[in-house]
Amino acid sequence: LSRAALALRRAAALVLALALAGGCAGAPPAQREPSREERDVLERQQRVSELGGEFPFLWDPEVVDVVRATGGEILRAVGAQEDQYHFYVLDKPVLNAFTSPNGDVFFFTGQLTAMRNRSELAGVLAHEIAHVRAGHYERISRTAALGAIPAMAAIILSGGSLAVLEGTLAALEAYQLSFSREMESEADRLSLVYIQKTGFDPRGLIGSLQLIEKAERLSPSGAPSYLETHPETAERIVTLENAVGLPPGEPYHPAADPAWDRVRAIILARDSPEEALREFGARARTGGAFEHDLLGVVEARRGNVAAAAEQFRLAVAGAPGEAQFAVDLGGALWSLGDAAGARAELERALRLPGGGSSAVAQFLLGELQRAAGRKEEARARYERATELAPQLSEAHYQLALALSETPRLGEADFHFGRAAELRGDYVGAMRSYRRAREHLGTDPLWAARIAAALKHME
Ligand SMILES: [Zn+2]
Repeated sequence: LSRAALALRRAAALVLALALAGGCAGAPPAQREPSREERDVLERQQRVSELGGEFPFLWDPEVVDVVRATGGEILRAVGAQEDQYHFYVLDKPVLNAFTSPNGDVFFFTGQLTAMRNRSELAGVLAHEIAHVRAGHYERISRTAALGAIPAMAAIILSGGSLAVLEGTLAALEAYQLSFSREMESEADRLSLVYIQKTGFDPRGLIGSLQLIEKAERLSPSGAPSYLETHPETAERIVTLENAVGLPPGEPYHPAADPAWDRVRAIILARDSPEEALREFGARARTGGAFEHDLLGVVEARRGNVAAAAEQFRLAVAGAPGEAQFAVDLGGALWSLGDAAGARAELERALRLPGGGSSAVAQFLLGELQRAAGRKEEARARYERATELAPQLSEAHYQLALALSETPRLGEADFHFGRAAELRGDYVGAMRSYRRAREHLGTDPLWAARIAAALKHME
């Protein structure tokens, strides 16, 4: 390969870097009857992959982790079983989110970019979790609930045209709207209680309801789909405004949230690159280091690695002590083929406050070491990355590959399992965890860890 081709390949690998874990599929299925346990997992997997047929999941950990962490915080605050819920992001710029009765919560990317901070995300999540916990799905008409899911899957599988998509959304909305007014009030009331037990701003509930109201008024194509708006939503907003103590008539202003801005930049650069460039370009022209970093994120996701590196350089120049900017610059330099520069910047990032806990820095240093043929150093970096960010599926996958070249095959299977699980491949995950158990089952610590992982699959 030419130098340019190599650089291009590295760039492609890195821009999608943490988003894609190529070839995570497990070994081919064993030729035998699946156990009952496996059939249950298979069903769950099928349900998820049917939805994924036309609406591929977004696995970018920088996005998915934030959604999962926010959901996890609410679940912990209310003492709910965390592993009963699974959070997914569907890669379509549509303003919607929905929940299955058994706790699978789906967000479309369009819903995420519409939200202005994590408190609004927490508001939507708390509301959805409230419907599940209050048993509303058991109380609504069974036909409505059972009718909506196959309709949803069938429509999704039948094609991806906008007309079909709107049909899908209509089915989803019908499903959601089948909650009674009382149930919606109860979910609002409960979600406020949940949010008050977390560190999130309860006013985010108002912002999230305003988004629901907007979704009711607009179809995905922007044309009004309802002749009349739903007065209940406006009433619910007023009730919540009173409940959170927002003085009447005072508009709700969403609070700034830099971590969420980054998520929005990542998604918008995929969903609507021109819009992302406009929004974040304008912010960078008048802003400081942080805004340059955000524009760099947009440029990197659009594939303009050189332009991204320029923005990251400006960010680092403006705030040399900010570890995130150093990690971003290191990643871009690596994509441009400047291994020495990348390494220097990433190692600098690790010494900065907060930088030592950067899983991405450790992961990228692992990639650098692997490219340089230093396998053991690479393995240690990947291992550190998985410790720092247990949700980083790509780190688990690379660690598993590295371990499979050593006698630590059981550990390799465990990390293959984790990588598959994090990407929604539950059947593959279970198979790998079982193989890990064959190797490591006699070690009490590993046996417990594997048992917990298998339990999570149920
Ligand atoms: Zn609701």
